[in-house]
Amino acid sequence: MPGKTKKLSRRDFIKTASAMGLGSTLIPLSSSKMAYGSSSKKESEEVIVPKRPYGKTGVNVSILALGGVLNISDQLVFRQAFKMGVTYWDTADSYAWGNNEKAIGKYFTKFPNDRDKVFLVTKASTSNPQKLTEKLDASLQRMNTPYVDMYFIHYVSDAKDELTNDVKAWAEKAKSKGKIRFFGFSAHKNMENSMLEAAKLGWIDGIMMSYNYRLMVKDEMQRAVEACSNAGIGLTAMKTQASFSANFYASIGSETDDGMKMTENFLKKGYTTEQAKLKVVWENPNIASICSAMSNMTILQANVAASLNKNRLSEGDKQRLEQYAQRTAPGYCAGCANICESLVDLNIPISDILRYSMYNHSYGDRDTALRLFNNLPTDVKAYILKADYSKAEKYCPQNIEIGKVLRKTLEELS
Ligand code: SF4
Repeated sequence: MPGKTKKLSRRDFIKTASAMGLGSTLIPLSSSKMAYGSSSKKESEEVIVPKRPYGKTGVNVSILALGGVLNISDQLVFRQAFKMGVTYWDTADSYAWGNNEKAIGKYFTKFPNDRDKVFLVTKASTSNPQKLTEKLDASLQRMNTPYVDMYFIHYVSDAKDELTNDVKAWAEKAKSKGKIRFFGFSAHKNMENSMLEAAKLGWIDGIMMSYNYRLMVKDEMQRAVEACSNAGIGLTAMKTQASFSANFYASIGSETDDGMKMTENFLKKGYTTEQAKLKVVWENPNIASICSAMSNMTILQANVAASLNKNRLSEGDKQRLEQYAQRTAPGYCAGCANICESLVDLNIPISDILRYSMYNHSYGDRDTALRLFNNLPTDVKAYILKADYSKAEKYCPQNIEIGKVLRKTLEELS
């Protein structure tokens, strides 16, 4: 009917995605049974991403979350994400200097009825209650909404230190005023320690942490996930592609025989390696959602297809991923900063700098890498050249050539 928007059926979705070269990912869509999470019979006939409970909040969230990379002009991706059931949206006040929040605000101005159907998360990197209030108010204004569903403290690296009683009181007040529904934090380094600490606190509703096929097999991460799950904390996985920290690691990545064989094996089964890396995370039912930076329709459709794909990874598939993780370990920083940073006599945020290098090389996001690197205190940059990394390199569980990567990053981002 002219003028009416027709809902995308699973058949249409297969046709469109096939035309985009994603056909091989869609074979399992012919089944009406979902592999991950739950969906109604009607939804199973449409392209709707399944949902899972988010901790003990009583809210079900889409197992795929839209990460904060979109700009004001990317309204089509927001719209299509919403229509496909990607109704968990993640942002932060710092993303694109506030422009990602403004892009969300523009969407809610045009589609105000969608606001209550989206699980909206934003973050601020401070533990100071007064600054939290100011930053939250500014975020709400940019996003044209009176409340967010979840408010995170961004980049928590030591929950014991940062999640103080003052922060708890602030979160309770913000909830009572109706500005936030839930409260938690995101963690890129020392995630496991902070997760274990949060599980003891009793007032943390959700955590978003680095979690992927490399980290999920580690004992300490398994213990942390279990503790949070037992405490009713909702968990969102980020950095699920476990990208390399510097470009010279590409030679131990996809160019190796291991990488190529693994990719060919997944393609024969109907999905890409990137989709397999999502699927292995969803196989842990304690992970409510995966936050993925979906900057265009191609990535959005491929990730949605992965969430609908009912084929589970075989034990052999998981072993291949594990073997690949072991062989390429020196390219990936696992965020265990409490190990290396205590073994270097100068104060250098090693794990953060490796992450900035990853944004630059693996994500191609030089702007963010430059912004973060150039926010480091000046003495850190001087220390990078002076420091002795021998002990840190000896004990780094990933065998990273820390000094080499840091010096290269200094050269590239200064
Ligand atoms: S450099 Fe090594 S020890 Fe340091 S955070 Fe990364 S993986 Fe852990």
